[in-house]
Amino acid sequence: MSLHFTYKGSPARIVFGAGVRWQLADAIDRLGCSRAFVLSTPQQAGEAEALAASLGGRAAAVYSRATMHTPVDVSEAAVAAAREAGADCLVAVGGGSTTGLGKAIAYRTDLPQIVMPTTYAGSEVTDILGQTADGAKTTLRDPKVLPEVVLYDPELTLGLPLGLSITSALNAMAHAAEGLYAEDRNPITTTMAAEGLAALRDALPGIVADPRDLAARTGALYGAWLCGTVLGSVSMALHHKLCHTLGGSFELPHAETHAVLLPHTIGYNAVAVPDLLAPVARIFGDPPGAALYDFAKGLGAPTALRDLGLKEADLDRAAALAASKPYPNPRPFDAAAIRALLGAAWAGTRPTT
Ligand code: NAD
Repeated sequence: MSLHFTYKGSPARIVFGAGVRWQLADAIDRLGCSRAFVLSTPQQAGEAEALAASLGGRAAAVYSRATMHTPVDVSEAAVAAAREAGADCLVAVGGGSTTGLGKAIAYRTDLPQIVMPTTYAGSEVTDILGQTADGAKTTLRDPKVLPEVVLYDPELTLGLPLGLSITSALNAMAHAAEGLYAEDRNPITTTMAAEGLAALRDALPGIVADPRDLAARTGALYGAWLCGTVLGSVSMALHHKLCHTLGGSFELPHAETHAVLLPHTIGYNAVAVPDLLAPVARIFGDPPGAALYDFAKGLGAPTALRDLGLKEADLDRAAALAASKPYPNPRPFDAAAIRALLGAAWAGTRPTT
C-alpha cells in the first residue's frame, strides 16, 4: 500500500446528545467564563432567552440580531454591544447565520465561543468566516474563528421547518461530497465524509415522514457534524465556488443553492474521479450525479435555479465570474463548461453522469 497524507485534528470540544443544551452553564464554567453574550436571529430570540434564563446569572446579555451573510456593520455593532455588556464569552444558538455572527465577533475580540447548532450547515466546526460589505462576500480562514465548544442537541432541531431541513442537509452533504476529492484529503476525512453521507441518507426520509422524529433528527445532526468537520478540515472545489458566486453576487439563498447544484457539480466531477466518488455511488447509486438528483427530488428539495430567482439572462455573467479565478478542481473547467452546468441546473435537468 502506498499512502501519503497530513492529518490535523480539531482542538474543539464536541458534546452530542438529546438534552445537552442544559450543559451550557457547565460549558461556560469550564471555559473559565461567567458573562456569556447569547446570540440568535430575531426568529429564534425565544430559544435564546430561554437558554439565557437557564444560566443562573451567567448571561451578560441576549443579542438577537443575527442575519444572513454576516454583514460587517451588523458584526461591528454586535462587538460594541458585547463590550458594553462586559461579555467574556459568546454563545450562538442557531444556524449558520448566527454562528457566523459569533465567529465575526470572535475574529474581532478573540472571545471564546460555544455554539448550539439548530441547522445542518456545519459552520460551527470550521475556521471559515464569510462576511459581506458593500454587496461583496469575502471568506477568510483563521483559527481565531473556530468555536471552542459545540453542544449538538438534536432536540434543538425538531422545529427546523421541513424545507430548510432538507436543503440544509443537502448543504451538509455537499461538504462531504467535495471532501472526497479534496486535494488535501486524508483517510480520516474520507471516512468521516462517507459516514456523514450515509447518516444523512438514512435519516432524511424519516424527517420527511415526521419532522419531529427525534431518532431521525439525531441521525441527521450526527451526519451534519461529520460533514461539517470535513469542510473544516480540507479545501473545497467547484461546487462551493459556484454556490459562493451565486449567493454573493446574485443573492441566491444559501442552502437551496447548494441543494440544486449538488447533483450537477458532483456529476460533472464524477466523469474525472469516479474512484474518489465511489462512496457516493455506493450510498446513493450510480452514476453519482443522477443518483443525488433522484434522492434530493424524492425528498421534495428544489431542483432548478430558476425557481430560486436566478434569471436566465444572468447565467453567462455567473459562469464568467465563477471561471474568473483559478481554484483546484479534479476536472478542468472553463466558462463554457460552467455555463453548460449552470444551464442544466437552471432548468432543473437530471444529470446523466
Ligand atoms: P440560517 O442560519 O440563515 O437560518 C435560516 C433561518 O432559519 C433563520 O431565520 C433561522 O433563525 C431559522 N432557523 C434555524 N434553525 C431553526 C430551527 N431549529 N427552528 C426554527 N427556525 C430555525 O441558515 P443556515 O443555512 O444554517 O446558514 C446559512 C449561512 O451560514 C450562510 O450565510 C452561509 O454562508 C453560512 N455558512 C457558513 C459556513 C462556514 O463554515 N463559515 C458553513 C456553512 C454555512
